[in-house]
Amino acid sequence: MKRREFINKTFIGLPMLMSNPSLLWGTQKTNAMMRPTPRSVIVIGAGISGLAAAKKLQENGFTVTVLEAQDRIGGRLRTNRTLGVAFDEGASWIHGVTGNPITTLAQQAGMTTFFTDSSSRKAYDIGGALINETTLDSTETAYNNMLTTLRNSGSLTQSFETVFNNLYPTEATNRLWKFFLSTFMTFDRGDLNNTSSLYYNEGLKFGGEERISTNGYDTIPTYLATGLNIQLNQRVSSINYTNSTVAVTHNGTTSQADYVLVTVPLGVLKNNAIAFTPALPTTKQTAIQKVGMNCVNKFLLTWNTAFWDNEQYIIYTPETRDKFNYFVNVKRFHPSVNALMTFAYADYGRQTETMTDAQVIADIMAHLRDIYGNSIPEPTNMLRTRWHTNENTYGSYAYTAIETQMQHFEDLATTINNKVFFAGEHTHIDYFSTAHGAYLSGIREADKMIALATLPVELATFEAYAKENEVTLKWTTEAERNTKYFTIQQSRDGQTFIDIGNVNAKGANAVYDFVDKKPFLGINYYRLKVNDIDEEVSYSKIISVVVDASFADIKIFPTIISDNLNIATQNGKITDVQVLNMAGQTLLHQKYNNENYNAIISIAHLPTGIYIVKAANNRGEMRTSKIFKN
Ligand SMILES: Cc1cc2nc3c(=O)[nH]c(=O)nc-3n(C[C@H](O)[C@H](O)[C@H](O)COP(=O)(O)OP(=O)(O)OC[C@H]3O[C@@H](n4cnc5c(N)ncnc54)[C@H](O)[C@@H]3O)c2cc1C
Repeated sequence: MKRREFINKTFIGLPMLMSNPSLLWGTQKTNAMMRPTPRSVIVIGAGISGLAAAKKLQENGFTVTVLEAQDRIGGRLRTNRTLGVAFDEGASWIHGVTGNPITTLAQQAGMTTFFTDSSSRKAYDIGGALINETTLDSTETAYNNMLTTLRNSGSLTQSFETVFNNLYPTEATNRLWKFFLSTFMTFDRGDLNNTSSLYYNEGLKFGGEERISTNGYDTIPTYLATGLNIQLNQRVSSINYTNSTVAVTHNGTTSQADYVLVTVPLGVLKNNAIAFTPALPTTKQTAIQKVGMNCVNKFLLTWNTAFWDNEQYIIYTPETRDKFNYFVNVKRFHPSVNALMTFAYADYGRQTETMTDAQVIADIMAHLRDIYGNSIPEPTNMLRTRWHTNENTYGSYAYTAIETQMQHFEDLATTINNKVFFAGEHTHIDYFSTAHGAYLSGIREADKMIALATLPVELATFEAYAKENEVTLKWTTEAERNTKYFTIQQSRDGQTFIDIGNVNAKGANAVYDFVDKKPFLGINYYRLKVNDIDEEVSYSKIISVVVDASFADIKIFPTIISDNLNIATQNGKITDVQVLNMAGQTLLHQKYNNENYNAIISIAHLPTGIYIVKAANNRGEMRTSKIFKN
């Protein structure tokens, strides 16, 4: 079944301005390319986020120590092979292989995968009654329609369940609806009575097939950990960031480093397992409280012979929601293994943690007997998880609970004093709750530290222009710069950058153009990562450009170069220009005598901020746009 199947691309308001202006506007002149100044880092947690960061930092010359509380690495990428088959207790799937960084990582790590086709399914109601495909399809369609409808009635303080029960009283008691709500919503978003009725569908997803790991997801942490200094059985109890270096206490010992990266799960932060001195900022504490921590438990059962349908998924619709309501047929990807994997979520998931193995098996077998009859055999073995009471996680992954705001994910990721950094799935606003979100968060934090420790490179010019839904970047190099290539990096908050393209260097004093077709709505930040011929890395200053929601309709193109506001029209000559601030006050109003397609207005000393530009042409058309002044 596809977690995140229905999560749509959404934009989450204008991003925060950067908390570290020196990094944003740094223009320190340097003719020689600089490596990052070697720094020491302690990474807390050897899950995928911590390992990804540690690997990247070590590759960039940092001295890295990873402290892990458990006697093993991998965190929630944890594979149990005691029954002779790889049972992933945490992540199993690559959720959407297209563009997903885990796809490449899996290939590098030797993780084999299998396409779990969600159309290969059979569904049974109580009494073993087969639910036909037409009913399944129509209910699924109605479920998807409900997702859009409910959003309009949601509020910050009401649960998904409250709003759903009001709008859909009949469906609330329908067993097939309970199944869809459970596997498509609760699996991702926790107890429905605590799930946000506003943000239940927030986040991004990758396209392409859902592929399940067949030889174990732990291959990825094993690959990432190669060559790293990892100290196991080191439980961190406190972090003191009062002084210039950070002091980390673990097992009664205190270690110091320039930076610390905290990757422990949200559940661990919620339980105050690590004491911070000074206390964490209030915004961070609020975010820790408000973002929810789900509970998903997984169960693998084996038999001597298989008695079930040869489909990928066997669905069962019990009265109790979230209780062993579907089975992944492991035999489809391990033909010699007679095994089924099933799940328990949220409240029922937590309840299973208090049950004995015999009680759990009895409940699972009751469902299978209802489908396949009383003569089916008892399982030979069972493996199970207890993520809620596990002191290394206290839950499975983060979700949008009542009163969670999307800003809280940004707050969880915010760096403190350029010394204490945070990664982990719960810190990724777009991909929280996934392995790829965790991985990307680790890379993000490593990039932040590398940028902090790297002197900025000076370019002769560096400009950004927004035109409809495209952003063009133009820059020229200085003489004597032996650049090899430029990596263009984009960010929505000026802190977390992702690579969006490369340009090969053409030599000194060259002019470069790069058209990015995927800007974010609102402010877009760009910087260049510059590799010289010795593969030494430096970064340019950061520039920004605003992409407006209605840009596609606008036929004027304002840009700011030095202190000049340049406005160009596509149709007609400019007759009238107004510049307003965001409060709507007119700062400048100038008329033109039908002269030109371009207008240039001098606006010296205009403070940094967003401005509204209105321009009319000689065809009587008036257009409005926005521009960000650095
Ligand atoms: C049941 C389940 C199913 C999932 N299914 C999928 C899936 O199919 N696909 C997918 O993409 N994602 C899935 N996920 C999510 C994915 O596994 C996680 O998002 C990801 O592994 C989290 O990585 P992380 O680095 O953020 O945290 P973790 O992997 O949890 O790493 C944190 C590390 O910190 C350590 N630690 C904790 N406290 C301390 C301390 N005090 N001192 C030192 N170390 C400490 C922990 O032991 C752990 O090793 C699933 C998760 C679960 C639980």
